[in-house]
Amino acid sequence: MQGKLDTRKALISGGASGIGEATARLFASEGAAVLIADIDDAGGERVVREIREAGGVAHYRRVDVTDRSAVRRMVHDAADTLGGLGILFNNAMTNPSADYSEDERWNLMLESGLSAYWAAATEAAPILARSGHGAIVSNASIAGARLGIEFASEAYSAAKAGVLGLSRKLAKRFGPEGVRSNAICPGIIETPRWRSPGQAEPQFARRWRQMAPLGRFGKTDEVARLVLFFASDDASYITGQDIAIDGGFTTAMRFESVDFLAD
Ligand code: NAD
Repeated sequence: MQGKLDTRKALISGGASGIGEATARLFASEGAAVLIADIDDAGGERVVREIREAGGVAHYRRVDVTDRSAVRRMVHDAADTLGGLGILFNNAMTNPSADYSEDERWNLMLESGLSAYWAAATEAAPILARSGHGAIVSNASIAGARLGIEFASEAYSAAKAGVLGLSRKLAKRFGPEGVRSNAICPGIIETPRWRSPGQAEPQFARRWRQMAPLGRFGKTDEVARLVLFFASDDASYITGQDIAIDGGFTTAMRFESVDFLAD
């Protein structure tokens, strides 16, 4: 059977878990050779092993996206390893612990969640252009990019809003070379970021589900399918766009379902 990404080569940052992992698996099942860049060696190697066991082509590299020169090296390493590069999924973003000062947290989040996306995209663009079907997909969020949200920090919100501006400017700059650039804005998606298996659901999460028209969180494979859409020829005339994938939360919030006075 033909895959939507047969012969394509894809670099996915943060592919050892969550949305990046689901995207790596889906891309590989659609025929792409993928390189996962992450700092979680055990997770990255597990995903690669499972993709290979399923007959796909995958590689793992340890790359810390808070290190800009490592991000630039990652692009060339991916192209050398895969024999070219047609797709870049900018997805990793660090979530620094409270051990860091507020300034350090700001810098790490802006570096990993915005500057690294810019460095990877601008470094990759000439290589993506040579593929003849270059596509950049950048992971923003409804937080910051669409809404100010209590549980998203200013740094997270600023980085995610910046991703939209960056993605549109990349579309403008590299469109003439045939490289498209689009962004996704997930709502709450079931990943380890929100809840480890067996843990109780936090209260804000329950409220969120009540307020979203579709009444549930998103699944990582649902987000992966949107990334696949933007990365594949299905979106061959789409660039500079972003789509929220949030169960309708930002456009059709259900206020009537929430008791605002409850604890
Ligand atoms: P996740 O924690 O499951 O995966 C994130 C991956 O990034 C992990 O494998 C982690 O090891 C890796 N990573 C973290 N810091 C890194 C670093 N410095 N260098 C390299 N890799 C690093 O989280 P996720 O929810 O899949 O998040 C992926 C992206 O989706 C992020 O950009 C996040 O902001 C965005 N997002 C997630 C949600 C959600 O609800 N899960 C909503 C909106 C946007």
